[in-house]
This record gives sequence, structure tokens and C-alpha cells, in this order.
Amino acid sequence: MTRTVYVNGDYLPETEATVSIFDRGFLMADGVYEVTSVLGGKLIDFEGHVLRLQRSLEALDMAEPCSRDALLEIHRRLVELNGIDEGLVYLQVTRGSDGDRDFAFPAEDTPPTLVLFTQNKPGLADNPAARKGARIISIEDIRWGRRDIKTVQLLYPSMGKMMAKKAGCDDAWMVEDGHVTEGTSNNAYFVKDGVIVTRPLSTEILHGITRKAVLRLASEAQLKVEERLFTIDEAKAADEAFTTSASAFVMPVVEIDGVSLGDGTPGPIARRLREIYLEESVKTAI
Ligand code: PMP
Repeated sequence: MTRTVYVNGDYLPETEATVSIFDRGFLMADGVYEVTSVLGGKLIDFEGHVLRLQRSLEALDMAEPCSRDALLEIHRRLVELNGIDEGLVYLQVTRGSDGDRDFAFPAEDTPPTLVLFTQNKPGLADNPAARKGARIISIEDIRWGRRDIKTVQLLYPSMGKMMAKKAGCDDAWMVEDGHVTEGTSNNAYFVKDGVIVTRPLSTEILHGITRKAVLRLASEAQLKVEERLFTIDEAKAADEAFTTSASAFVMPVVEIDGVSLGDGTPGPIARRLREIYLEESVKTAI
């Protein structure tokens, strides 16, 4: 089926949607993005994604392409036009183009480029991969220093994912100065003696929308949470581990660098948090 996508005010078949070759998103990775999941045809944590988008745009001195209400309308219309029950809405804003290539930003009145498209993912909530758990490798984190801005510079995370695949694994966690930062496209956690440990928020990691929700739900469920730096060796010696992201929710991790965690199957805390998160986020979806 040909998708209907959104580009700068128009809803078009994907085959007819175009962006300039001079667009700074294409030439300079000068753009930011958001991915919002859809369950039961509704948007999960839309407000969180809009707030983070505004924060990313502000950090890069980029204009907001439109209001929160207009964005909600575009998300909803794409979900409807493409008949999405379970899936994702991808949104990208770039600094646009003034018709040439230059390191300096274009004039402030250059309109940003706004693109959105849906990805149909039936079975997103009841994902067999979550029942099996992910096997991960650790790699060095050599990304730039403002990982809290959700930019489209995804080359290294993408290479990390391929390093994991080559090693016969599912994903990679990145390590900087001896401490785990995050996964290629998710936040990282381990559990030891009932305590959930994850890296605190800073410019070194993306401030995950799912992270925020899961940590709140964990506290509400009387689970202990410690936000602190941790090493890959601590994670390897853990009882269980997991990752969080808008597209995979809570994903149990069962192996790190060839070392099985616990009995090698998804741990009880990760499974419980996945269940609670899905239940709660569907309730508040819009
Ligand atoms: N860290 C990185 C590097 C990511 O790319 C993502 C997902 N985009 C996350 C964390 C998780 O963030 P969220 O829960 O908002 O999807």
C-alpha cells in the first residue's frame, strides 16, 4: 500500500513527496526528529514528544514549524489516512534550505522543512522479541557531546546496530570513560538486588520520553531506582537488564557481551515494567 505522508503542508502519496537536495537536513544533518508510537490507533505520550521537540529546536536556534495543536492534527490525520492501529509516527524538522550549500545558517526567515510519515507495525505491543529478550554488545561511545538534542545525526548509532548484528546480537550499549551512556536507540538499565540503576540525565544521553514514564511508574510500584553512572561490568553482573524507547517500550536484555544475565530469560522487573507501561500508556493515549 502506498503511504500518505506529510511534507510542508501537503498530504501526498509517498512516491510524490519531495524535499530539496539543498535541504540542510540532507547536507548537514541539521535537523531534529521525534518518533511517537501508536497503539489502538492512538498516540502514546504525545505531549512528551512535543515538549522534547520544542527543547531540541530551541537548543539549535531553529524555528518551530507549527503549533502543538497543528502537529497533533497532522499526527492524527496520518494515523487515520494510513489506517494505523499499531505503529509509529516519524516526525522530522530541518532548518530548511535557501537554495545553496553554506556552513552558516540560512536567513532566519528561511522556512523549516517539516516531514511526517507513519510506519505500520502490527504486533508492536505483543512483540515476540520482548518475550525472548535482547542480546547486546558494548561499544565505545564516539558520538558528539549534545546527545540530549534529538538530532538526525544517527550514523554512529546505526553503525553500532550493525556491529551488534555482525556479532549475532540485537543491539549495542555505548560506553564512555568507563561508564555506559545508553543504547543505540534506547536508554539502558540494569537491576541488582531489586534496585533499578540507570544513568542520570545530562547532555550525554537522550532524555527518553519512555524513560521518564517508566521511572515514574517504577516509583509508583514501590520499586527502588538509583540514577547514577554504572559500568558495563556492573551490568554484566546484574540480575536483569532492560532498555526503554518509544518504539520498543520496555525491552528485556538477557545477555551482555556474551554473558547471560540471571537465567538468560527476561527478568521479572523488566517484564512487570513492560506490562505496567503498556497498560498505563494505552489508558492515557490521545
Ligand atoms: N536514547 C537514544 C540514543 C535514542 O535514539 C532513543 C530513541 N529515539 C532513546 C534513548 C529513547 O527515547 P524515547 O523513549 O523518547 O524513545
